[in-house]
Amino acid sequence: MLSSSAGPATLEGYGSCSFKGAVADKYLKEQGYDASLLKDLSWPKNEAKAKAVAAALLSWATDNGAKQYSHWFQPMASAGVRHGNAGCLQMAMFDFDADGVPYPSFSHENLLQGETDGSSYPNGGLRATHTAGGYLSLDPLSPIFIREDTMYIPSCFVSYNGDALDEKTPVHRATEAMSSQGKRLLKLMGYNPEGDLINNIGLEQEIFLTTRSAFYNRPDLQFTGRTVMGKDAARGQELSDHYMAPISRATGAFETMKQIQAECYKIGIPLKTRHREVAPNQYEFAPMFGNVINQIDQNLMVMQIIEEVASENGMAALLHEKPFAGINGSGKHNNWSIGTSTGVNLLNPKQLNKASGNAEIFPVIMAALVSAIDKHGDLMRLSIASPGNDFRLGAMEAPPAVMSTYLGSSLTEYLEQIKNGKMSEYSPEKKSLSFGAANVPDITVPAEDRNRTSPFPYGGARFEFRAAGSTQNVSLINTCLDSMAAEAFKIVADRIEGGEKPLDIAADLLKQHEKCIFNGNGYDPNWPDDAVKRGVWRIDSGVDAIDQLDSEKNVAMFSSIGVFSERELQARKSVLLTYYTGVVEMEALTMIDMINKHVIPSVKKADVGNPNKLNDGIKQIKSALKKIHGEENETKQAQMARSLRLETMADVRKVCDDFEAKVPAEHWTLATYDELLFLDTFPEGEMW
Ligand code: ADP
Ligand code: MG
Repeated sequence: MLSSSAGPATLEGYGSCSFKGAVADKYLKEQGYDASLLKDLSWPKNEAKAKAVAAALLSWATDNGAKQYSHWFQPMASAGVRHGNAGCLQMAMFDFDADGVPYPSFSHENLLQGETDGSSYPNGGLRATHTAGGYLSLDPLSPIFIREDTMYIPSCFVSYNGDALDEKTPVHRATEAMSSQGKRLLKLMGYNPEGDLINNIGLEQEIFLTTRSAFYNRPDLQFTGRTVMGKDAARGQELSDHYMAPISRATGAFETMKQIQAECYKIGIPLKTRHREVAPNQYEFAPMFGNVINQIDQNLMVMQIIEEVASENGMAALLHEKPFAGINGSGKHNNWSIGTSTGVNLLNPKQLNKASGNAEIFPVIMAALVSAIDKHGDLMRLSIASPGNDFRLGAMEAPPAVMSTYLGSSLTEYLEQIKNGKMSEYSPEKKSLSFGAANVPDITVPAEDRNRTSPFPYGGARFEFRAAGSTQNVSLINTCLDSMAAEAFKIVADRIEGGEKPLDIAADLLKQHEKCIFNGNGYDPNWPDDAVKRGVWRIDSGVDAIDQLDSEKNVAMFSSIGVFSERELQARKSVLLTYYTGVVEMEALTMIDMINKHVIPSVKKADVGNPNKLNDGIKQIKSALKKIHGEENETKQAQMARSLRLETMADVRKVCDDFEAKVPAEHWTLATYDELLFLDTFPEGEMW
């Protein structure tokens, strides 16, 4: 039953390496409890229960071949640079007696908390080497799991002063704020669901697969995750031939994807779907949605498993938002909804109306969320400002940097009536769809079409944040969304307590904030300018968006609901800016190396022109880097890095690509786009 790369043959092994459900029940029963113990999240505060869980874990770990345990946490600024995006310190689950003989040992103290050096991870000045304490506390919302010989304990990570040093802690704070304010609002409207409110998300993960041998011949992919140069292949995605094509056994992709899913199922990750995406060599997985805390942990493991299984199959998985120019990049759609602990989805009008018996709640919640999007579009924009998204947003493959929402015509018309004081129950229509052939049965579909050009469309029962980047840990995204919702619910609840009628508040909020509702084509080149005229948030530069994190508005919002202090926001902004600049510097240095070690020698050997332009390019890049190092302000540094990357390096790339077009294949020493992008046509493992 050892967890390893070999997937289980039957469903029996699925879920066996995640401590929940029947598995937890079996081992907790040995200790006189059952799995219901884990449902009450306060169990870590009860010593007897914590001891029972530790003993059950030791027995389960031993049965599954695990001899190590580790608190597993999420340092900031890890995406794309840290394999698995996570941190862990692995310790033996045994001790030695006086004779030096080992015996199994794992205490509740071992389980509940851990410690690491807070100063050695990006911390934005919250920690220094002489004030380095960083502490870990078990996260009871996320199941403990086993991989290889180690039992992983998902944990939150804060400094000695309690400042969040990780991605996970703020998500807890934000969902708790959303839950308490949301419950307050619901109660004021006569609905008092049991338990906490939960933010549910489902993360669609896009990736590229390429052959490992070609990957080893691209220093840029190896170091930075994206190609900083490379001439277009003669073929791209223009014939839409990759999208949903068969996952063929003729390449290693099929075996890789199958094993990725099997490994996920073993640790209880419901990674249910797999398919080919639009760009050549692009693939996608999606799980069954669930609680945000758990889903984010699972997504980090999905990304780690993807990389590991790919390498075991002679493949390299590229998680970057834009590994290749000229074809689509990769995203991670963040499907977002709010539910009760008993599974009532507050964004599903039918479910909500039935459970609450009050049809006024749905329009009030929708009006509150519209107001949140309109006020805090800057936060949504900055939460997706991953360096890789610079190349993706607004390029006809992801919505632009304008934060609007698509609600569809029927919901928009309904809210229009609410705004005008006309109340009715919202019950969206379905329509019957005919295929025009008598033998093919009609099917029932939503009356609303889909709009893939909006960054935040409502899809009948959830919002879909489509602009999230594929490498991202989506914690900050959901921290922002839940905080925005919490604040909006608080405002409405306060006003109801102040004597206003809920529907009047909804009408007022819609009047003020409906400008962020846009049902048209988000890819229309005129839209970004029109959006500005309307007063909708548009921030083209990710760096400028990050700069807003500690604005007066945002400090007031986050501190009013207890999610971030001003100091934490300043630190997080600093981390995001230095991360951005650091990523660009790695790309710039890699480009210089590739020109010196590959492009210039090839050009000379093939004698296809004077390489002076390449040397000039290197000089420009070096001089820009020097200026960045000479600047002290982190925002300015990142702005300069952005123009180095999007202007200077783009120009230099053009020179490289023009030379690549001329150099005979035998003299070109880097893997080409042809080789990197067409598993179906190029041999695996033999090129280099
Ligand atoms: P697409 O957006 O490409 O049509 P799907 O309809 O398959 O894809 O859904 C994508 C993701 O959205 C899946 O991970 C799914 O579990 C998730 N999802 C579906 N409903 C909800 C919901 N109410 N809340 C959060 N996530 C959801
Ligand atoms: Mg989607």
